[in-house]
Amino acid sequence: MDMRMQSEIVLNAQAELGEGPSWDDRNMVLYWVDILRGLVHFYEPLESRDTTVSVGKYVSSVVPKRSGGVAITLQHGFCTLNPKNGKASTVAEVEKHMAGNRLNDGKSDPAGRFWAGTMDMEEKNASGGLYFLERNKVHRVLEGVTISNGLGWSPDDRTMYYIDTPTRKVSAFDYDMKSGGVKNRRTVVDFGPDQPGNPDGMAVDAEGMIWVAHWGGYRVTRWNPATGRPLNFVTLPVAHVTSCCFGGKNLDELYITTARTGLNQEELSRQPLSGGLFKVRTGFRGLPTNVFDG
Ligand code: ZN
Repeated sequence: MDMRMQSEIVLNAQAELGEGPSWDDRNMVLYWVDILRGLVHFYEPLESRDTTVSVGKYVSSVVPKRSGGVAITLQHGFCTLNPKNGKASTVAEVEKHMAGNRLNDGKSDPAGRFWAGTMDMEEKNASGGLYFLERNKVHRVLEGVTISNGLGWSPDDRTMYYIDTPTRKVSAFDYDMKSGGVKNRRTVVDFGPDQPGNPDGMAVDAEGMIWVAHWGGYRVTRWNPATGRPLNFVTLPVAHVTSCCFGGKNLDELYITTARTGLNQEELSRQPLSGGLFKVRTGFRGLPTNVFDG
């Protein structure tokens, strides 16, 4: 079996730091962000149309919201956003006194909580944490995080996946859907000495396999979390691969975000599509994006 899948570019967006994709199957829209340009993107594949709303620096994730519109994370805030008028309203804030930290990747869980973690913008200190927003209240789940990423839930809703990028590992927790509680952290994937780049964002498919973006590694790899073994991989013509999300009518298309930041002029000239939005028809069905209950 050929383990390699080829991606295609669907939008040459030239994003500084494309990230945080989620799929809204009510509207057939892929949401994603450019963290450093402060943009929320709305990509409609049926029209091949991408529109943006400017919300200010460090918008790091965007998820569909049950009552309409979307929820986003800004530097310290969990917010709602009305895409029609661009109005963002803060629901709750974290680490407000820590100017060197910002929120990073975020996702909704199967019960509709909005999870997001923080990072040290210098990427050195384990000064960040992991939080979830339930209705209007924010709860801290983890501390001692350096660059919070990943996030995904198994098809049976009993396991949560998490990535603190510098560890080069994907962790799993026992996850209690009723309370949002997590325990029994263990490593399910280790990038070790062999895998290129560092683990960043991820997605879960209907078979329970996990798809992990390689920051600095030109690829997304599909892993079996039960064995820790790689199964398939998607190649990209750009090094800084940040995150991925299943979308499309049959949830079998993997959308992949990428970044230009951190590449020098020479690298950018050899990887001109950096910052683009890519897609691959995987032949696997993904889990639907969870909706924030807000
Ligand atoms: Zn990320």
